[in-house]
Amino acid sequence: MRTRNGGAYPKPRSDNISSHNQRTKRQHAFGLGSSQRQDPPRKRLRPAERPEFFEWLHDDLVLSILSKLAASASSTSDLINVLLTCKRFNGLGMNPLVLLKASRKSMAIRAKNWSESAHRFLKLCADAGNLEACYTLGMIRFYCLGNRGSGASLMARAAMASHPPALYSLAVIQFNGSGGSKSDKDLRAGAALCARAALLGHVDALRELGHCLQDGYGVRRSVPDGRRFLLHANARELAAALSHPLFLPLLGSSPGSACPLLSDFGCALPPPDPHPANRFLIEWFSSRRVEPDGLRLCSHVGCGRPETRRHEFRRCSVCGLVNYCSRACQALDWKLAHKAQCVPMDRWINE
Ligand SMILES: [Zn+2]
Ligand SMILES: [Zn+2]
Repeated sequence: MRTRNGGAYPKPRSDNISSHNQRTKRQHAFGLGSSQRQDPPRKRLRPAERPEFFEWLHDDLVLSILSKLAASASSTSDLINVLLTCKRFNGLGMNPLVLLKASRKSMAIRAKNWSESAHRFLKLCADAGNLEACYTLGMIRFYCLGNRGSGASLMARAAMASHPPALYSLAVIQFNGSGGSKSDKDLRAGAALCARAALLGHVDALRELGHCLQDGYGVRRSVPDGRRFLLHANARELAAALSHPLFLPLLGSSPGSACPLLSDFGCALPPPDPHPANRFLIEWFSSRRVEPDGLRLCSHVGCGRPETRRHEFRRCSVCGLVNYCSRACQALDWKLAHKAQCVPMDRWINE
């Protein structure tokens, strides 16, 4: 095996010791005692002169370690800090084999930290075939940077590899005709993409498909099937909440009271964590208001999608004050907040 410098690995220390012993034995055999011939006194090496064991590690081994680290990174800084450690980590850390494995959390770049280098990092990960990077960069380009073509094609690349959030996002784009005109809506394509994401267990897609089936929107109307998909979405939502660290304290805080999950479809559950791409959109548009153009944001707090043309999103038919990119966002926001806030429009007009 060779080191990255192309040299051979040094022999183990035990070999050196045994050869030294053999040499000493040979010296005794030929009458060369310690009085006649002495080895020079062993010099204590200074730190700078000691052999660099890290340099002896094979590149494949370092790549394997860095790949595991990238896959388990809990933030972008986890990965970037390692790359900044030394020149070798910097070179090997940007290897496509490492970037391919980078975790979803390592793509969670904050909107306030967005820069050319952050864009380049996501692009390198996407080029390496990392589906989370394809989806995240696709969402950022499509909604934040206004680069609809490349954003949609990046999401399509992730969707073709069965990435559920990418399939669902493309479904929302098709349902709304986002990036085009009202006539660009393709309800059947939206429902088909949604069904694919729902089959992969994406909760928002299950909820969206359930409402589409109940309303006959893009698919043939079937109320029982729609109900089944909504129940499935709630079951998955409950399963996700059970693994949430905040869930057990929530149950323990109200001994003797009814389980909050027994309320309508688990409305007392903690809200699901938004995907890093959604969190980026939320932060991006909270600092750059889009209302002056007459474009509005989805009113669901965990979404962050903006309209790409005026009156693209559906409004609450009761109050007319909130807007949603999808039925899934509307249903979720109804449970989380809007149920308590919605007031019929004619009532506040009369008051
Ligand atoms: Zn939304
Ligand atoms: Zn309302």
